[in-house]
Amino acid sequence: MTHVYGPHIFHTSDERVWSFIQRFGRMRPYLHQVRAITKNAVFSLPVNLLTINQFFRRIMGPNEARAFVSSRAHAIENPQNFEEQALSMVGPELYAAFFRGYTRKQWGMEPTELPASILKRLPVRFNYDDRYFSHTHQAIPDQGYTKMVESILDAPGIQVRLKTSHESLNENFAHVFYTGPIDRYFNFAQGRLGYRTLDFEVFRTVGDFQGAAVINYCDEAVPFTRITEHKHFAPWDSQDMKETICYREFSRACGPEDIPYYPIRQAREEQMLDTYVERAHATKGVSFLGRLGSYRYLDMDVTIGEALDAAQEVLNCLAQLRPIPPFFVKP
Ligand code: UDP
Repeated sequence: MTHVYGPHIFHTSDERVWSFIQRFGRMRPYLHQVRAITKNAVFSLPVNLLTINQFFRRIMGPNEARAFVSSRAHAIENPQNFEEQALSMVGPELYAAFFRGYTRKQWGMEPTELPASILKRLPVRFNYDDRYFSHTHQAIPDQGYTKMVESILDAPGIQVRLKTSHESLNENFAHVFYTGPIDRYFNFAQGRLGYRTLDFEVFRTVGDFQGAAVINYCDEAVPFTRITEHKHFAPWDSQDMKETICYREFSRACGPEDIPYYPIRQAREEQMLDTYVERAHATKGVSFLGRLGSYRYLDMDVTIGEALDAAQEVLNCLAQLRPIPPFFVKP
């Protein structure tokens, strides 16, 4: 039940994805709530009415708070980067407290160099709704993700070979669906695309360490980004547990031997990515998909939805004797 690759909460409003995933084991309702520590105080996240009132030491209702925040926000019509997006959404004070330091730590670069889309993942709410995600379905697999994936793979015709690199395979496949990093497939010929990797410092203690699954540390002076206390993801399983396992999460540039977690997608990488995509289009018998194959910051539900679409498209291609395309969505 420990999320060894960092906190993963299954959330979706896509009914097709939701019913698909439930074929592989019971999903238990779990509502993700996150707290943020900044400037020596604890706040509710994503930024909501409680955050705003506590941060500015005010007692405002939704309309007043909306007007208050927009009076501080910068009027930027078409935000071009993360910082502009944040300044136009919440203004400089909330940006500096909650987003600037965390983002520098998480991405290792200036928020002005990052795409605005990263911040669009988080809502700003002018009510007391503090759910981290707004999706209809939010859950954690009852038996954990390992069991869930085992159950997905437990199907006729699927053979799993672990510790076998793609490069070492020398067989003739009718078609290859490649979900590794796209730059790796081409042996980094155009250079390495930027990824962030994560290090987790595991510690165990007794009782309840922090009272919540995830607490973000937004100050830049704190070297880690968040602490995850895994037993809070499965309250049905951990009631009597005396011990607790926590991960301190550190982000850094992904080196050649590290696991790539987050595609960075800086504007200056676009040219390199375009060249890889062009090469992928010219590679017969291979389709690229998933977070690394298409070099996009995808959540689990979007990845599954795209895989289902891809599967349908493959069936259509086979039925109509058309070649299977290299990508199923524009990367
Ligand atoms: N973010 C931030 N402060 C926070 C939480 C998130 O600045 O306390 C920014 C940060 O740039 C992060 C992005 O919002 O990378 C998306 O956050 P999310 O929690 O979705 O990231 P994930 O769980 O995928 O790492």
